[in-house]
Amino acid sequence: MDTIGKRWQAIKARIEAAALDAGREANSVSLLAVSKAHPANAIRELFMEGQRQFGENYLQEALAKQQELNDLAITWHFIGPIQSNKTQPIAQHFDWVHSIDRSKIADRLNAARDPSLPALQACIQLNISDEDSKSGTSAAEALALAEHIRQLPRLRLRGLMAIPAPTDDPAKQRAQFHAVREIYQQLQSAGHALDTLSMGMSEDFPAAIQEGATIVRVGSAIFGARIKPTTEQST
Ligand SMILES: *Cc1c(COP(=O)(O)O)cnc(C)c1O
Repeated sequence: MDTIGKRWQAIKARIEAAALDAGREANSVSLLAVSKAHPANAIRELFMEGQRQFGENYLQEALAKQQELNDLAITWHFIGPIQSNKTQPIAQHFDWVHSIDRSKIADRLNAARDPSLPALQACIQLNISDEDSKSGTSAAEALALAEHIRQLPRLRLRGLMAIPAPTDDPAKQRAQFHAVREIYQQLQSAGHALDTLSMGMSEDFPAAIQEGATIVRVGSAIFGARIKPTTEQST
């Protein structure tokens, strides 16, 4: 069986190949290692290989691992749904938040961000699949939310995150990522200085890179299958 380090090297090579294939610089796409449902020692192992950016979905799980790994200079990204009663610890313990989907959450993160820390790096999560069950703001509401976040001094809006409906069809994957990119470009045209398109996961990151992804969020292709789906522990 391949080690985490070998799988990570293979994913990095595929990311570079996809970037070159899309006519982009090999280093124009960064890899966010999504470590949810995997233990702190797996994160430590990958850190030793050179990975610095890690993404987590569930607050309690993430905080426990951060505690165990506090000797490592990790950049932590929160990528899961945000309940409003969790904004304080998220603002305190993460460098990035990818999943802002409403102004109330943005306001609370802004209020909770310690002034001694750098601004919280923020992405709006966009819902392009139009399913009521999925989190994310609609394309129609994205501009208003971006305008709102622009007024918040402790947040720095970097771009958009999206989780399109899963499909094996690369053309459909690409069409969905293209839709995200269009909204991204609309926000840029409206004067937002954005540099981050967070899209693409283990099964679809090459299509996302074709459509301009600057961060791909890869979990299982590096760490292996998640044995059990994790759920937020009630606290
Ligand atoms: C779990 C998760 C990922 C990684 O998914 P894989 O299919 O394991 O690569 C990426 N982004 C988000 C928001 C996730 O919840």
